[in-house]
Amino acid sequence: MSDKDNRKLLTVIVPCYNEEENIAYFYEEFIKNKPFFEEKGLDYELLFIDDGSKDKTVQNIRLLREKEPRVRMVSFSRNFGKEAAIYAGLENSRGDYVAIMDADLQDPPALLPELYSYLEEGYDTAATRRVTRKGEPPIRSWFARKFYRLMNRMSNADIVDGARDYRLMKRQVVDAILSVSEYNRFSKGIFGWVGFKTKWVEFENIERMHGETKWSFWKLFLYAIDGIVAFSTVPLSLSAIVGLLFCALAFLMIIFVIVRALIFGDPTSGWPSLVCIILLVSGVQLLCIGVVGQYLSKTYLEVKKRPIYLAKEILDEGTDEDSCGDKTAD
Ligand code: UDP
Ligand code: MG
Repeated sequence: MSDKDNRKLLTVIVPCYNEEENIAYFYEEFIKNKPFFEEKGLDYELLFIDDGSKDKTVQNIRLLREKEPRVRMVSFSRNFGKEAAIYAGLENSRGDYVAIMDADLQDPPALLPELYSYLEEGYDTAATRRVTRKGEPPIRSWFARKFYRLMNRMSNADIVDGARDYRLMKRQVVDAILSVSEYNRFSKGIFGWVGFKTKWVEFENIERMHGETKWSFWKLFLYAIDGIVAFSTVPLSLSAIVGLLFCALAFLMIIFVIVRALIFGDPTSGWPSLVCIILLVSGVQLLCIGVVGQYLSKTYLEVKKRPIYLAKEILDEGTDEDSCGDKTAD
């Protein structure tokens, strides 16, 4: 927290997965805020979370630490995903203010002073959303838009279209987010779910500095399903409703078949339609079981209470030796 002369501390969490080229550029951009920090009497620390990178990310963070002692690092034992990295960052943050920022400079550090000004105004969180999706395949943007609409209809977690994970929060908000200790973390949903007074700041999409995005279309699709399962039980209710509808339909058909047999006798025909019906109904049944299965599998993973991440190495203030440890969700 704040040190002796009552300066407030700002922790900037930077999740990194194979970002070797970006670390130095990121710092260069970030440190342009130094005059602002001085003006506001803010201390800062950079908390890099290495999410099991396979390239020279860790070495580059170490190099940076040699010239900037305010760099800390938590390095994971393997790739746990950005959600785990965000959690680890929040858990290890000490700041009175905490920001989350991508390493690829898609979240412009130059926006920090503006975000900070909103916290001064009395907001608890200043979050960002991009208003354009420049540089993104159109099909991806289309699916993303549909996803946000669906999600907002189905859940009470207010998720804003185009919201990025880039945000600046007060300590109270960070503690609230950490108190949501679920294993299947969908941060965009959790941020919305915890509430607090949030100011949305818009900016134009910026293309990634170096390297490739870690998100394939398929990964994004699965992530969207995870989000829905994590924040809504509507699909379960829908399964039940579809089941009810089919029961009602079957009941009507039974009456129809009986009446027809009584009037016209019982000519044996119509097996193609029977096959279609069986296929349709069994398809719907399998789909509904699949929906239930999704929830069951999430519950299964949740009750296992596995740690959200495992740290292989922690570089902390003043410690240059590696310390090992693991962090659990609770
Ligand atoms: N990231 C991570 N773990 C992962 C994937 C990504 O920590 O498994 C980090 C990545 O290094 C970057 C941020 O999350 O700092 C956003 O990733 P990316 O740029 O690939 O996503 P996009 O900006 O395309 O949404
Ligand atoms: Mg990016």
